[in-house]
Amino acid sequence: MKITGIGVEVVSKPKAHAVRDALQLLDRDGHTKVVIETDEGITGVSDTYFGRVASSPAVLAAIITDQLAPAIVGDDPTLIRQVRQKLWRLTDYQGSTGLSLFGISAIDLALWDLLGKSLEVPVWKLLGAQRTSIPTYAMVGWLELDVPGLEAVSTKAMEQGFRGVKMKVGGGPLSEDISRIKAVRAVIGPDAPLMVDANQAFSYSEALRRGRAYSDLGCEWFEEPLPAADTESHIRLADKLDIPIATGENRYGQAQFRDLITGGGVGVVQPDLRRAGGLTDCLEIGLMAAGFGIPYASHGGGAHIHVLAALPNTIYVESGLLPPDGRVELVDGCYPLPLEPGLSSWSH
Ligand SMILES: [Mg+2]
Repeated sequence: MKITGIGVEVVSKPKAHAVRDALQLLDRDGHTKVVIETDEGITGVSDTYFGRVASSPAVLAAIITDQLAPAIVGDDPTLIRQVRQKLWRLTDYQGSTGLSLFGISAIDLALWDLLGKSLEVPVWKLLGAQRTSIPTYAMVGWLELDVPGLEAVSTKAMEQGFRGVKMKVGGGPLSEDISRIKAVRAVIGPDAPLMVDANQAFSYSEALRRGRAYSDLGCEWFEEPLPAADTESHIRLADKLDIPIATGENRYGQAQFRDLITGGGVGVVQPDLRRAGGLTDCLEIGLMAAGFGIPYASHGGGAHIHVLAALPNTIYVESGLLPPDGRVELVDGCYPLPLEPGLSSWSH
Protein backbone atom coordinates (compact mmCIF):
# COMPACT_ATOMS: atom_id res chain seq x y z
CA MET A 1 0.00 0.00 0.00
CA LYS A 2 1.23 3.53 -0.81
CA ILE A 3 0.17 7.02 0.25
CA THR A 4 -1.20 8.83 -2.82
CA GLY A 5 -2.31 12.13 -1.31
CA ILE A 6 -3.06 14.07 1.87
CA GLY A 7 -6.05 16.37 2.10
CA VAL A 8 -6.40 19.04 4.79
CA GLU A 9 -9.55 20.92 5.85
CA VAL A 10 -9.88 23.68 8.44
CA VAL A 11 -12.71 24.95 10.63
CA SER A 12 -12.43 28.09 12.76
CA LYS A 13 -15.35 29.68 14.56
CA PRO A 14 -16.19 31.23 17.94
CA LYS A 15 -16.98 28.79 20.76
CA ALA A 16 -20.62 28.70 21.80
CA HIS A 17 -19.47 28.93 25.41
CA ALA A 18 -16.02 30.42 26.16
CA VAL A 19 -14.10 28.86 29.06
CA ARG A 20 -11.30 30.26 31.21
CA ASP A 21 -8.38 28.79 33.12
CA ALA A 22 -5.63 30.51 35.08
CA LEU A 23 -3.60 31.06 31.89
CA GLN A 24 -6.07 32.00 29.18
CA LEU A 25 -9.55 32.49 27.80
CA LEU A 26 -10.46 29.74 25.31
CA ASP A 27 -13.11 31.27 23.06
CA ARG A 28 -12.41 29.73 19.62
CA ASP A 29 -13.36 26.37 18.20
CA GLY A 30 -10.74 25.45 15.60
CA HIS A 31 -10.05 22.11 13.89
CA THR A 32 -7.56 20.87 11.31
CA LYS A 33 -8.73 17.66 9.65
CA VAL A 34 -6.27 15.42 7.79
CA VAL A 35 -7.30 12.74 5.29
CA ILE A 36 -4.57 10.38 4.03
CA GLU A 37 -5.43 8.60 0.78
CA THR A 38 -3.87 5.39 -0.55
CA ASP A 39 -3.64 3.43 -3.78
CA GLU A 40 -5.86 0.74 -2.24
CA GLY A 41 -8.73 3.15 -1.66
CA ILE A 42 -8.44 3.03 2.14
CA THR A 43 -8.22 6.40 3.89
CA GLY A 44 -7.05 7.47 7.34
CA VAL A 45 -8.47 10.50 9.13
CA SER A 46 -7.46 12.67 12.08
CA ASP A 47 -9.04 15.77 13.58
CA THR A 48 -6.82 18.14 15.56
CA TYR A 49 -8.47 20.66 17.86
CA PHE A 50 -6.47 23.90 17.71
CA GLY A 51 -8.65 26.83 18.64
CA ARG A 52 -6.26 29.24 20.34
CA VAL A 53 -6.65 32.05 17.76
CA ALA A 54 -8.73 32.40 14.58
CA SER A 55 -5.91 31.58 12.17
CA SER A 56 -4.46 28.63 14.16
CA PRO A 57 -6.03 25.80 12.11
CA ALA A 58 -4.92 27.42 8.81
CA VAL A 59 -1.34 27.86 10.06
CA LEU A 60 -1.20 24.19 11.03
CA ALA A 61 -2.77 23.23 7.69
CA ALA A 62 -0.03 25.12 5.81
CA ILE A 63 2.73 23.19 7.62
CA ILE A 64 1.04 19.88 6.81
CA THR A 65 0.19 20.71 3.19
CA ASP A 66 3.39 22.53 2.18
CA GLN A 67 6.06 20.71 4.16
CA LEU A 68 4.99 17.37 5.69
CA ALA A 69 2.62 15.87 3.11
CA PRO A 70 4.88 16.11 0.02
CA ALA A 71 7.63 14.24 1.90
CA ILE A 72 5.53 11.11 2.51
CA VAL A 73 3.49 10.72 -0.68
CA GLY A 74 4.59 7.37 -2.13
CA ASP A 75 5.55 5.96 1.30
CA ASP A 76 4.06 2.82 2.88
CA PRO A 77 1.45 4.11 5.41
CA THR A 78 1.81 1.04 7.62
CA LEU A 79 5.42 1.95 8.51
CA ILE A 80 4.25 4.53 11.03
CA ARG A 81 7.47 4.89 13.02
CA GLN A 82 9.51 5.18 9.81
CA VAL A 83 7.26 8.07 8.73
CA ARG A 84 7.71 9.66 12.17
CA GLN A 85 11.50 9.54 11.88
CA LYS A 86 11.39 11.08 8.41
CA LEU A 87 9.14 13.95 9.54
CA TRP A 88 11.23 14.71 12.66
CA ARG A 89 14.34 15.00 10.46
CA LEU A 90 12.49 17.07 7.87
CA THR A 91 11.40 19.64 10.47
CA ASP A 92 14.66 19.84 12.38
CA TYR A 93 15.63 23.20 10.83
CA GLN A 94 12.65 25.06 12.32
CA GLY A 95 12.38 22.77 15.35
CA SER A 96 10.50 19.47 15.42
CA THR A 97 8.51 20.42 18.51
CA GLY A 98 5.87 23.18 18.71
CA LEU A 99 3.65 23.51 15.64
CA SER A 100 5.80 21.08 13.64
CA LEU A 101 4.84 18.40 16.14
CA PHE A 102 1.14 19.31 15.96
CA GLY A 103 1.46 18.50 12.24
CA ILE A 104 3.48 15.30 12.74
CA SER A 105 0.93 14.17 15.35
CA ALA A 106 -1.98 14.81 13.00
CA ILE A 107 -0.34 12.57 10.38
CA ASP A 108 0.56 9.92 12.97
CA LEU A 109 -3.06 9.68 14.12
CA ALA A 110 -4.38 9.48 10.56
CA LEU A 111 -1.88 6.66 9.85
CA TRP A 112 -3.07 4.67 12.87
CA ASP A 113 -6.67 5.20 11.75
CA LEU A 114 -5.70 3.94 8.31
CA LEU A 115 -3.92 0.88 9.73
CA GLY A 116 -6.94 -0.06 11.84
CA LYS A 117 -9.29 0.37 8.89
CA SER A 118 -7.04 -1.66 6.59
CA LEU A 119 -7.12 -4.56 9.09
CA GLU A 120 -10.78 -3.90 9.98
CA VAL A 121 -10.19 -3.64 13.73
CA PRO A 122 -10.29 -0.79 16.25
CA VAL A 123 -6.75 0.44 16.95
CA TRP A 124 -6.85 -0.56 20.63
CA LYS A 125 -7.06 -4.19 19.52
CA LEU A 126 -3.81 -3.77 17.56
CA LEU A 127 -2.00 -2.53 20.66
CA GLY A 128 -2.52 -5.54 22.92
CA ALA A 129 -5.17 -4.05 25.17
CA GLN A 130 -5.24 -4.50 28.92
CA ARG A 131 -8.86 -3.41 29.44
CA THR A 132 -12.12 -2.86 27.56
CA SER A 133 -13.29 0.28 29.34
CA ILE A 134 -11.52 3.30 30.85
CA PRO A 135 -12.24 4.97 34.24
CA THR A 136 -13.14 8.62 33.75
CA TYR A 137 -13.62 11.93 35.53
CA ALA A 138 -15.19 15.17 34.31
CA MET A 139 -13.18 18.38 33.82
CA VAL A 140 -16.01 20.80 34.49
CA GLY A 141 -14.81 23.37 37.05
CA TRP A 142 -13.78 26.27 34.78
CA LEU A 143 -12.89 29.64 36.30
CA GLU A 144 -15.65 31.64 34.61
CA LEU A 145 -18.17 29.74 36.75
CA ASP A 146 -19.23 31.19 40.08
CA VAL A 147 -19.80 28.87 43.05
CA PRO A 148 -23.46 28.07 42.18
CA GLY A 149 -22.33 27.35 38.62
CA LEU A 150 -19.58 25.02 39.91
CA GLU A 151 -22.07 23.22 42.12
CA ALA A 152 -24.45 22.76 39.18
CA VAL A 153 -21.88 21.26 36.78
CA SER A 154 -20.43 19.04 39.50
CA THR A 155 -23.90 17.73 40.31
CA LYS A 156 -24.50 17.05 36.62
CA ALA A 157 -21.17 15.22 36.26
CA MET A 158 -21.93 12.91 39.17
CA GLU A 159 -25.46 12.28 37.84
CA GLN A 160 -23.90 11.25 34.51
CA GLY A 161 -21.84 8.62 36.31
CA PHE A 162 -18.36 10.17 36.38
CA ARG A 163 -16.13 8.98 39.20
CA GLY A 164 -15.17 12.51 40.19
CA VAL A 165 -14.44 15.99 38.87
CA LYS A 166 -11.55 18.32 38.13
CA MET A 167 -11.61 22.07 38.67
CA LYS A 168 -9.37 24.98 37.76
CA VAL A 169 -7.55 26.88 40.49
CA GLY A 170 -5.30 29.95 40.57
CA GLY A 171 -7.84 32.45 39.26
CA GLY A 172 -7.66 34.43 42.50
CA PRO A 173 -6.19 34.18 46.00
CA LEU A 174 -5.82 30.85 47.82
CA SER A 175 -8.84 31.65 50.02
CA GLU A 176 -10.99 31.72 46.87
CA ASP A 177 -9.63 28.35 45.72
CA ILE A 178 -10.40 26.88 49.14
CA SER A 179 -14.02 28.03 49.19
CA ARG A 180 -14.56 26.76 45.62
CA ILE A 181 -12.98 23.38 46.42
CA LYS A 182 -15.12 23.00 49.54
CA ALA A 183 -18.27 23.78 47.54
CA VAL A 184 -17.47 21.08 44.96
CA ARG A 185 -16.49 18.58 47.65
CA ALA A 186 -19.86 19.09 49.33
CA VAL A 187 -21.58 18.17 46.07
CA ILE A 188 -19.54 15.10 45.07
CA GLY A 189 -19.19 13.57 48.53
CA PRO A 190 -16.18 12.75 50.68
CA ASP A 191 -14.78 9.87 48.64
CA ALA A 192 -15.09 10.92 44.99
CA PRO A 193 -11.80 12.06 43.44
CA LEU A 194 -11.44 15.84 43.13
CA MET A 195 -8.48 17.08 41.09
CA VAL A 196 -7.18 20.67 40.84
CA ASP A 197 -5.48 22.22 37.79
CA ALA A 198 -3.46 25.47 37.90
CA ASN A 199 -2.48 25.56 34.19
CA GLN A 200 1.14 26.59 34.96
CA ALA A 201 0.07 29.69 36.93
CA PHE A 202 2.32 29.61 39.99
CA SER A 203 5.88 30.36 41.01
CA TYR A 204 7.69 27.65 42.95
CA SER A 205 6.99 29.20 46.37
CA GLU A 206 3.32 29.85 45.58
CA ALA A 207 2.90 26.32 44.24
CA LEU A 208 4.37 24.96 47.46
CA ARG A 209 2.04 27.07 49.61
CA ARG A 210 -1.09 26.22 47.60
CA GLY A 211 -0.12 22.58 47.11
CA ARG A 212 -0.05 22.05 50.87
CA ALA A 213 -3.56 23.53 51.12
CA TYR A 214 -4.91 21.36 48.26
CA SER A 215 -3.32 18.34 49.90
CA ASP A 216 -4.98 19.15 53.24
CA LEU A 217 -8.32 19.40 51.41
CA GLY A 218 -7.90 15.85 50.13
CA CYS A 219 -7.41 16.68 46.47
CA GLU A 220 -6.36 13.74 44.28
CA TRP A 221 -3.65 15.52 42.30
CA PHE A 222 -2.22 19.02 41.69
CA GLU A 223 -2.04 19.57 37.93
CA GLU A 224 0.40 21.90 36.15
CA PRO A 225 1.46 23.82 39.26
CA LEU A 226 4.43 25.41 37.45
CA PRO A 227 5.56 26.50 33.98
CA ALA A 228 5.68 23.20 32.09
CA ALA A 229 9.29 23.41 30.89
CA ASP A 230 10.80 23.96 34.36
CA THR A 231 11.73 20.38 35.14
CA GLU A 232 14.05 21.21 38.03
CA SER A 233 11.31 23.06 39.97
CA HIS A 234 8.88 20.18 39.42
CA ILE A 235 11.42 17.82 40.96
CA ARG A 236 11.93 20.08 43.99
CA LEU A 237 8.18 20.60 44.44
CA ALA A 238 7.34 16.90 44.20
CA ASP A 239 9.92 16.23 46.89
CA LYS A 240 8.19 18.66 49.27
CA LEU A 241 4.51 17.82 48.66
CA ASP A 242 2.50 14.73 49.54
CA ILE A 243 -0.12 15.39 46.86
CA PRO A 244 0.92 13.92 43.46
CA ILE A 245 1.94 16.43 40.78
CA ALA A 246 0.22 15.80 37.44
CA THR A 247 1.77 17.30 34.32
CA GLY A 248 2.70 16.71 30.70
CA GLU A 249 0.01 18.29 28.48
CA ASN A 250 2.42 21.07 27.45
CA ARG A 251 5.50 18.93 26.83
CA TYR A 252 6.58 18.14 23.28
CA GLY A 253 7.95 14.75 22.35
CA GLN A 254 9.14 12.00 24.63
CA ALA A 255 12.56 13.57 25.24
CA GLN A 256 10.80 16.28 27.30
CA PHE A 257 9.33 13.63 29.59
CA ARG A 258 12.52 11.71 30.29
CA ASP A 259 14.24 13.93 32.86
CA LEU A 260 10.93 14.76 34.53
CA ILE A 261 10.23 11.07 35.04
CA THR A 262 13.72 9.94 36.04
CA GLY A 263 14.05 12.94 38.40
CA GLY A 264 10.81 12.14 40.22
CA GLY A 265 9.12 15.41 39.19
CA VAL A 266 5.80 13.89 38.15
CA GLY A 267 3.31 11.69 40.00
CA VAL A 268 0.74 11.39 37.19
CA VAL A 269 1.95 11.70 33.60
CA GLN A 270 -0.47 13.48 31.24
CA PRO A 271 0.62 13.70 27.60
CA ASP A 272 -1.47 15.46 24.97
CA LEU A 273 -1.87 13.65 21.63
CA ARG A 274 -1.14 16.82 19.61
CA ARG A 275 1.93 18.00 21.50
CA ALA A 276 3.50 14.71 22.51
CA GLY A 277 3.62 13.34 18.96
CA GLY A 278 0.37 11.47 18.34
CA LEU A 279 -0.62 7.98 19.36
CA THR A 280 2.88 6.57 18.79
CA ASP A 281 4.68 8.90 21.18
CA CYS A 282 1.91 8.87 23.80
CA LEU A 283 2.17 5.08 23.85
CA GLU A 284 5.96 5.20 24.22
CA ILE A 285 5.82 7.92 26.91
CA GLY A 286 3.22 5.87 28.76
CA LEU A 287 5.44 2.80 28.68
CA MET A 288 8.42 4.84 29.86
CA ALA A 289 6.31 6.08 32.81
CA ALA A 290 5.11 2.53 33.48
CA GLY A 291 8.72 1.42 33.86
CA PHE A 292 9.06 3.91 36.71
CA GLY A 293 5.74 3.00 38.32
CA ILE A 294 4.07 6.30 37.38
CA PRO A 295 0.35 6.36 36.54
CA TYR A 296 -0.92 7.72 33.20
CA ALA A 297 -3.98 9.94 32.77
CA SER A 298 -4.64 11.43 29.33
CA HIS A 299 -4.94 15.13 28.57
CA GLY A 300 -8.30 15.09 26.82
CA GLY A 301 -10.05 12.07 25.41
CA GLY A 302 -11.04 11.18 21.85
CA ALA A 303 -8.49 8.99 20.08
CA HIS A 304 -6.41 8.91 23.27
CA ILE A 305 -8.73 6.18 24.54
CA HIS A 306 -6.90 3.64 22.36
CA VAL A 307 -3.61 4.39 24.15
CA LEU A 308 -5.34 4.20 27.53
CA ALA A 309 -6.76 0.79 26.66
CA ALA A 310 -3.27 -0.57 26.05
CA LEU A 311 -1.12 0.94 28.81
CA PRO A 312 -0.58 -1.01 32.03
CA ASN A 313 -0.46 2.20 34.12
CA THR A 314 -3.70 3.89 32.94
CA ILE A 315 -5.80 5.49 35.66
CA TYR A 316 -8.20 7.89 33.87
CA VAL A 317 -9.39 9.34 30.60
CA GLU A 318 -10.22 13.06 30.89
CA SER A 319 -13.66 14.11 29.67
CA GLY A 320 -16.10 16.98 29.63
CA LEU A 321 -19.78 16.35 30.35
CA LEU A 322 -21.32 13.64 28.15
CA PRO A 323 -22.81 14.75 24.81
CA PRO A 324 -26.51 15.60 25.16
CA ASP A 325 -27.57 13.22 22.37
CA GLY A 326 -27.19 10.22 24.70
CA ARG A 327 -24.91 8.25 22.32
CA VAL A 328 -22.44 7.50 25.13
CA GLU A 329 -23.23 6.03 28.54
CA LEU A 330 -20.75 5.36 31.31
CA VAL A 331 -20.70 1.97 33.00
CA ASP A 332 -19.29 1.86 36.54
CA GLY A 333 -17.63 5.24 35.96
CA CYS A 334 -15.91 4.02 32.78
CA TYR A 335 -16.04 4.87 29.09
CA PRO A 336 -16.61 1.89 26.79
CA LEU A 337 -14.10 1.45 23.95
CA PRO A 338 -15.23 2.07 20.36
CA LEU A 339 -15.79 -1.05 18.24
CA GLU A 340 -15.55 0.51 14.77
CA PRO A 341 -12.35 -0.09 12.75
CA GLY A 342 -9.63 2.57 13.09
CA LEU A 343 -9.60 5.38 15.62
CA SER A 344 -13.29 6.25 15.61
CA SER A 345 -14.23 7.32 19.08
CA TRP A 346 -16.84 9.00 21.20
CA SER A 347 -15.52 12.55 20.97
CA HIS A 348 -12.67 14.70 19.73
MG1 LIG B 1 -4.83 20.54 32.45
